[in-house]
Amino acid sequence: MPEIRPLSEGIFEVTKDKKQLSTLNLDPGKVVYGEKLISVEGTEYRTWDPRRSKLGAMILKKFDTPLKRDSKVLYLGAASGTTVSHVSDIVSEGAVYAVEFAPRSMRDFIGLASRRKNIFPILADAGKPDSYAHIVEPVDLIFQDVAQPNQAEIATRNAARFLKKDGYLLLSIKARSIDTAASPKEIFKEEVKKLEQAFEPGFEILTARDLMPYHEDHLGVLAKLKA
Ligand code: SAM
Repeated sequence: MPEIRPLSEGIFEVTKDKKQLSTLNLDPGKVVYGEKLISVEGTEYRTWDPRRSKLGAMILKKFDTPLKRDSKVLYLGAASGTTVSHVSDIVSEGAVYAVEFAPRSMRDFIGLASRRKNIFPILADAGKPDSYAHIVEPVDLIFQDVAQPNQAEIATRNAARFLKKDGYLLLSIKARSIDTAASPKEIFKEEVKKLEQAFEPGFEILTARDLMPYHEDHLGVLAKLKA
């Protein structure tokens, strides 16, 4: 019988042969990206590959992910929905507003979103939050994984528009999207400074850790708005 260990609300470590990060499948019987389904006493878990997901990697790197069953999440950089599907499992009574600007990825993503009532797909540029302000409500968490040179700016613009006062930002910063020549350490220092100072009140950085061994040259950041 597989062993289940809760890590935080809606997130589990399931041990069957090996330890695997998992969420409860909100769409039983369905696989999204080739992950495994593991049933234990009538409950179906979906394994979560940290090498395919910055958020999965952050959880394994002991980030204190502030996700609850009823959280409202703004997810920037949905691609075809690999990670969004796990967020949707976790916030089973909440909502995920998921922004993606590539029509090809969005086509695949719509298939997933149509099966899950808590995903709201938005075809838009995350750098222009005004264009989706009529759809998104104030959120408890912004998760961002856009791999763009202006990652910090996109995060601050969206936070200023949608983040609740006591909300959190979880951000994946890809060094090579910003500068291919400079050292990742220097780039990360600059980006963190931007988050702290870019706008009023600015972010307080709670955790900043590299995402090795799951993702090379990526920094994960958990931040909240300064009081
Ligand atoms: N978060 C996804 C996952 O874990 O399944 C992977 C995201 S992938 C690294 C980055 C995605 O961000 C790409 O699909 C890209 O098209 C999208 N993207 C980049 N810049 C964007 C922008 N300004 N607005 C919306 N989407 C953007």
